[in-house]
Amino acid sequence: GPQVYAAPGAEGSVVSYKPRYDHFIGGRYVPPAEGQYFDDITPVTGKPFTEMARGTAKDVDAAVEAGWKAFPSWSRTSPAERALMLTRIADRMEANLEAIAVAETWENGKPVRETLAADIPLAIDHFRYFAGALRAQEGGVSEIDHDTIAYHFHEPLGVVGQIIPWNFPILMATWKLAPALAAGNCVVLKPAEQTPASIHLLLDLIKDLIPAGVLNIVNGFGFEAGAPLASHPRIRKIAFTGETTTGRLIMQYASENLIPVTLELGGKSPNIFFEDVAREHDAFYEKAQEGFSFFALNQGEVCTCPSRALVAKTIYDGFVGDGVERVKRIKQGNPLDVSTMIGAQASNDQLEKILSYMDIGTQGGARLLTGGERADLGGDLTDGYYVQPTIFEGTNDMRIFQEEIFGPVLALTSFDGFDDAISIANDTLYGLGAGVWSRDGSQLYRAGRAIEAGRVWCNTYHQYPAHAAFGGYKQSGIGRENHKMMLDHYQQTKNLLVSYAEGPM
Ligand code: NAD
Repeated sequence: GPQVYAAPGAEGSVVSYKPRYDHFIGGRYVPPAEGQYFDDITPVTGKPFTEMARGTAKDVDAAVEAGWKAFPSWSRTSPAERALMLTRIADRMEANLEAIAVAETWENGKPVRETLAADIPLAIDHFRYFAGALRAQEGGVSEIDHDTIAYHFHEPLGVVGQIIPWNFPILMATWKLAPALAAGNCVVLKPAEQTPASIHLLLDLIKDLIPAGVLNIVNGFGFEAGAPLASHPRIRKIAFTGETTTGRLIMQYASENLIPVTLELGGKSPNIFFEDVAREHDAFYEKAQEGFSFFALNQGEVCTCPSRALVAKTIYDGFVGDGVERVKRIKQGNPLDVSTMIGAQASNDQLEKILSYMDIGTQGGARLLTGGERADLGGDLTDGYYVQPTIFEGTNDMRIFQEEIFGPVLALTSFDGFDDAISIANDTLYGLGAGVWSRDGSQLYRAGRAIEAGRVWCNTYHQYPAHAAFGGYKQSGIGRENHKMMLDHYQQTKNLLVSYAEGPM
């Protein structure tokens, strides 16, 4: 590929958007019932580039209806047939990798080197993984007595609702779609209002592979389109990724219809560096340093962002000194340039929220070690939403250590021994991710088991393979994503209890 991808709309771009996007319902594009559209803005330049249908309850009704219409025949397709569809989707995405990656970058602001190498390849692999997992799934038979058998079948739930955020638009859609479709459900998906276009671009590439009504997409805002979906009496499950406060609302809506809920919510993940990390300045030390700098990956807009670093007191000055230097070398620039390492925040709201936390950090008594301001990259990028990677030093009781910022802002502190590290790590409402770094396998194991989080990375961070379970403890969520166990989240068990006895009961 090129060094710098052409911006969509410019000559030579691999992406071309339609001037406006409607909903996708029952296999075709349908204009919004209320006739309203809203602007989709690129954070790269801060300018609108297309417009999207603004969905309401009427559109959600139509989408749920279309799902139920498709369900009887879709739910009776064989696992082989559904697996083949997922595999074909993956192949189609792979053949269009650059276009999808550039679209994702343009709409979200993240560097194209990551969408090309991580976001989209992971999404592709996710479809392949669930194609395989489905084929390998087996039911169970129990012998109740010699002539009585209990059969257990996996049955899909029906039409399910899915609501996703803007930080990994394609990957979050994939995490939800692949297991739901594999399991034989029909889906109504609502993308985040900040990033709907890349999902529609993907849809245009794959829609001929999916029977009409099996996948329906309603665009729009949380209260206008998301709430009617989550509270719809005819959906059989709601899966949500987003803020913890929104998660509470989703659970309330779902309680009206007593449907199952899976929630992937916020985090304030600790990244712990034990003393032996700095024993030598070797390849392992460099890897740990890289782990330290990972709070800035994806501009910090990751639910598992290692936003709190805990460094052993005995190695603090040297390790942190090297870490700060490394963070200063992170290359910020045009997200469409393949050498850029940190791009733009996804929206102006997000930019303002992060900048407000710079003040909260300073006013709360934290010490700024690097960054701390909006980054002005000049030219066309001046109005884009860029923030410098920032490190604050302080204590775990400060707001910047307790509240999710969702930006490239690290809250750094020291600890005195193993127990202190674990107690600081667990002193948060959240429990999504954590990192532990040590040369001592038994220390890693003990720390990993002691931390209250659904995913603990040991001597690594920010890896998201399809076959490792992912999800939150505490207020970071309910349920898991990834791993074949996800099929269970989208299926219910049918038990047939059969007597083959000829005599009396
Ligand atoms: P958000 O909760 O406001 O929005 C997420 C989605 O929910 C959007 O599609 C939005 O339109 C929709 N929504 C908002 N209000 C709704 C309502 N009342 N009813 C139904 N739908 C509604 O979150 P955000 O601020 O856009 O996203 C950032 C947050 O998401 C962060 O806090 C981050 O931690 C979290 N997040 C978590 C994960 C995870 O896997 N745990 C992944 C990504 C993001």
